[in-house]
Amino acid sequence: MSLAFDEYGRPFIIIREQEKKSRVKGIEAVKSNIQAAKAVSRVLRTSLGPKGMDKMLQGPDGDIVITNDGATILEQMEVENQIGKLLVELSKSQDHEIGDGTTGVTVMAGALLEQAETLLDRGIHPLRIAEGYEMACKVALKRLDEIAATFEHDADNNEELVKTCMTTLSSKIVGRHKRELAEMCVKAVLAVADLERKDVNLDLIKLDGKVGGRLEDTALVNGIVLDKDMSHPQAGVELTSHMHITAKEESAATGAGMPKHLQDVKMAILTCPFEPPKPKTKHKASRGWGVDISSVEQFESLRKQEQEYFRNMVQLCKDSGATLVVCQWGFDDEANHLLMHNDLPAVRWVGGVELELLALATGARIVPRFQELNSAKLGYAKSVKEISFGTTRDRMLLIEGMPNSRAVTIFVRGGNKMMIDETKRSLHDALCVARNLVRDNRIVYGGGAAEMSCSLAVEAAADQVPGVEQYAMRAFADALDIIPLSLAENSGLPPIESLTEVKTRQMREGNPYLGIDCNDAGTNDMRQQNVFETLMGKKQQLMLATQVCKMILKVTHFGWIDDVIKPSEYE
Ligand code: ADP
Repeated sequence: MSLAFDEYGRPFIIIREQEKKSRVKGIEAVKSNIQAAKAVSRVLRTSLGPKGMDKMLQGPDGDIVITNDGATILEQMEVENQIGKLLVELSKSQDHEIGDGTTGVTVMAGALLEQAETLLDRGIHPLRIAEGYEMACKVALKRLDEIAATFEHDADNNEELVKTCMTTLSSKIVGRHKRELAEMCVKAVLAVADLERKDVNLDLIKLDGKVGGRLEDTALVNGIVLDKDMSHPQAGVELTSHMHITAKEESAATGAGMPKHLQDVKMAILTCPFEPPKPKTKHKASRGWGVDISSVEQFESLRKQEQEYFRNMVQLCKDSGATLVVCQWGFDDEANHLLMHNDLPAVRWVGGVELELLALATGARIVPRFQELNSAKLGYAKSVKEISFGTTRDRMLLIEGMPNSRAVTIFVRGGNKMMIDETKRSLHDALCVARNLVRDNRIVYGGGAAEMSCSLAVEAAADQVPGVEQYAMRAFADALDIIPLSLAENSGLPPIESLTEVKTRQMREGNPYLGIDCNDAGTNDMRQQNVFETLMGKKQQLMLATQVCKMILKVTHFGWIDDVIKPSEYE
C-alpha cells in the first residue's frame, strides 16, 4: 500500500493488486488450509470438558457473550478464512443434528488435520490419507457400537437420563446446580415426548428467561409463559360477561393493578396490525395522493373514518367469538381504549416464535387478515393469567390447559443477561441430550473413555491393512487421543502421563469405561462416576469430523481451492 498525490495535490492510496501476490498450489495449498483450520480448533481446545475455560467474546456492537459452547464461540469469532468457516459449519451441523458435543467435534477435526499435515510431509498423497481416515472411522464407529451400554427408562424411572444430562451440564457455568437443572430438562422432555414412537418435539419446549432472581429460581412451567402483560391493566374490572376473574394469588406480590385470570379462553392469533392504515407522509408531496388536511371538518371526518375502521376490526374479532386477542404488532391508546370498551383483552407485540408455539399448543390458526377470522381459527386455553415471578414487579402471562398442551416452558432466572443466555444454551444442550436418549437409549462413557477405546481398536485394525492407508489409520488413532489429552490438560493433569496410564489400563484390564478423572473423584471408571454421552452424539462427532477433514484434503487436491493467496499476504 502506498500514498500518492494527484495533479491537484489530493492524496490517494494505491493498493497493490492481489494478482501480484505469490500463490501457493497443490500440497502447499493443502497445508496452508490446514493451518487455518488448526488455528480455529486450537481456540476451542481449552474449553473442552468439566474444567474447560469459558470464553468471553465481544460482538461488533460491543455486547459481551460468555460461553463454553463450541458452536456459540465459533459463531461469535467471525472467522474470515474459508477453511476456518468450514469448521464453524461443522460445529453448527453437530449442534443441529445432536445439540451437544460441538466443542469435541471441532477439536477432533483439528487433530485429524494436524495429523494429516505430518503425513503430507512424509509424502503421502492427500487422497490416500482421506481413504485411510474413512477406513479408520468405520472401525471406530463399530467399536462404539460394541462398547455402548443401554438402559431402560420410563416416566417413573429416569435416573439414567438425568445422569446423562448432568454430564452435559457439568462442563457449563451452571454446573453447580446440574442436578436440579438436569431433572428439569428430563421432566420437560418426558412431558412432550411420545415414548411409544420414541419421538420428542423440542419445539414444544420453550426456553425463556428474564433478568432477576437467582439461578435456583429457574422453574419448569406446565404451559407457555409470555413475557407480556395484558394491554389494559384495568380490564379485569370490566371484563365480567364471558370471563371469570379471580382476584387471588399474586396481587399481594405485585401490589398494583387488578390481577387477571381468564378462563375458558378462545384465542385469536393475529399477524395483522390493529391499526387503521396510516397515510404515509413521505409519499405525500411527490405522488400527490397523500392526505391533505386543511380544515377541522376534514380532520374530524378522517378521525371518524379511522374509528370506523377500528370498530370494524374489533367487531370482526368479537363476531368470531374470540375472548382474547394475541397480536404480533402493537396498537396505540385509541385501539386499546376501544378494545377495552368492547370487553376484549389483548396482548400486543408477541414475537413470531411465540405466536407459532401458541398456535401449535392452542390449536389456533395464525390469521393474517381480520376478514379471515372465524370461530374455526380460534385456539383454546383453559386458563390465561398474569403472574409475577419472585420479587420482581414485572408481570408475565401464563397460559395453561391447551388441547395440544404438552408444551412446557423452562423459565430461567439469573443476575444478568449474559448468565441467562449461557444458561439457556446449556439447557438447550441438556434437552437435546435427553431427546436423543428418548430416541435411542444407548450411551457410551465419557471422559475420553470412548475415544481411547476407539483409538486402540483403530490402531489394531491398522496393523491388518497392507497399503499406505495404514499410516493414515494410525494417525486417526493418534488424533482420537486429543480428547483425553485435552480433558487432562484442562484439568491440570499431566496430559501424556494421564493418557498413557489410562490407555494401558484399558488394554490390560480390558475395561473400555476407563477415562480421565477430571474432577479428582478418585476413580477412572466413568461408569462409577456416571459420566455418559449419547452413542448417537459420539458417532456423529466422529463422522462429521472425518467428513470435513476428507473434504479439506480432497477439495484441495481437485483444485477448487487449489490456489490460495498466502495467508501472510492478505490485505
Ligand atoms: P462439548 O461442547 O463437546 O459437549 P464439553 O465442554 O461439554 O464439550 O465437554 C464434553 C467432554 O467433557 C466430553 O468428552 C465428556 O466426556 C467430558 N466430561 C464431562 N464431564 C466430565 C467429568 N465429570 N469427568 C470427565 N470428563 C467429563
